Amino acid sequence: MLKKFISQVFGRKPAKTKDGKNAATILKKSQHGIPKERLSRGGLQTCEGLAKAGFKAFIVGGAVRDLMLGGTPKDYDVATNATPEEVRAVFRRSRIIGRRFRIVHVLFGAETVEVSTFRTADLKDATTDEHGRVLRDNVFGSQADDATRRDFSINALYYDPIEETVIDYHGGVKDLRAKVLRIIGDPATRYREDPVRMLRVTRFAARLGFSIDAKTRAPIKELASLLSNVPSSRLFDEMMKLLLSGHAVACIKQLRGEHLHHGLLPLLDVILEQPLGEKFVMLALKRTDERINMGKGVSPGFLFASLLWHEVLTEWNKLKAKGEHAMPALFEAMSIVIDTQKDKLAIQHRITADMREIWALQPRFERRNGRMPYKLLEHPRFRAAYDFVLLRAASGEIDKELAEWWTVFQEADPDARNAMTLAARSTATAGGVMGNPADPTKRKRRRRPRKNADAPGEAAASAGE
Ligand code: ATP
Ligand code: MG
Repeated sequence: MLKKFISQVFGRKPAKTKDGKNAATILKKSQHGIPKERLSRGGLQTCEGLAKAGFKAFIVGGAVRDLMLGGTPKDYDVATNATPEEVRAVFRRSRIIGRRFRIVHVLFGAETVEVSTFRTADLKDATTDEHGRVLRDNVFGSQADDATRRDFSINALYYDPIEETVIDYHGGVKDLRAKVLRIIGDPATRYREDPVRMLRVTRFAARLGFSIDAKTRAPIKELASLLSNVPSSRLFDEMMKLLLSGHAVACIKQLRGEHLHHGLLPLLDVILEQPLGEKFVMLALKRTDERINMGKGVSPGFLFASLLWHEVLTEWNKLKAKGEHAMPALFEAMSIVIDTQKDKLAIQHRITADMREIWALQPRFERRNGRMPYKLLEHPRFRAAYDFVLLRAASGEIDKELAEWWTVFQEADPDARNAMTLAARSTATAGGVMGNPADPTKRKRRRRPRKNADAPGEAAASAGE
């Protein structure tokens, strides 16, 4: 009776194959509940195209997991017994990419489907580094092998859109229903093969609201330092996935809980330990989550500028205490912070350029008299820099009045704007970005705005000197 119930809920019971491997549990539509119509065009047509050409092809990974949870997958991965060249030959709009793992991108309008060939589970021929990290392996295998190579049981489910079945080799369906993340195989070995799996488990736990199985969690603390052997560009990609998951706040909390944040943003742990820094970062992440969950875009430059702002402030203060002028000190502080990050996390140049711009514009918000506010309003990065001011005010770092002034100024008509800049002149709140703008004792002698003071550095230099 119980057996019958279990098989009804979880599908056909796994049996051992001749070679002792676990055979798969196969779930019918009534058991897995995925409506075929929910598949993306690309996901479906990739499987259909390969099947027509005589190959086996399955949707795999996050898409099956998310569909079974009733969510909408953000992208589709397909696993097949066709080699990359054979896949390439089936789809006109496709290209082979990757060296470490060769895969094929198949394009359907704006959608890209990632197709990988079943990989062997036998890693003895794979190239590894001295810690056991797999550097390259392109030896193909069976579907069962491929399932064993995947990271977590819930990520190793294969959906066959032609038969409308889900194939489960590692108890993924059971774990999905119990909301558990369980790594496939020996946890420590799997983390050594690829330390990024430690970040992945954290991200999935936070994003899906799942718990981490005790054995899967146990080695993480001890092996966390292996993340330092992972190329900084791969860490950056993983960090972006985490921050843009729509659950960044939960992810960062989970990372801290697992002591993994040290390896990622080397400065983040320092920042999170300062009350104001933590408040600022958490507010920034909360807003990012909100934007993503509303389907709005997020600028990575803004995000990283937020994550590291309090570290910039700390460095900036130190330099000013040594007697450096405000703006050169700010620029130096920005470089120190970015360079420290670079070794660990390869933040791309276009993103660091954005970060520098947002940071460098901050002192200009203090200059509210004369023509300066008009010039700032016209700056192409005004919007991002203003949003940053709002965050700073919301976190309590600067006076809310400053942020409100800019909110009103943007919308005001010319007369009102004029009146605002005149009023700002009489109640000038100088003192630089580090001063307390509301503190009248910090007022300084005002200079007439210079001509050609467009560059953030120049303009702000006179504000903060
Ligand atoms: P997301 O929703 O974030 O895309 P995902 O599970 O689809 O989640 P991907 O990075 O797109 O994650 O990877 C697709 C699949 O490839 C995973 O579900 C998993 O089966 C496998 N995979 C990805 N990265 C690894 C890894 N580091 N080790 C083992 N398997 C992996
Ligand atoms: Mg995916």
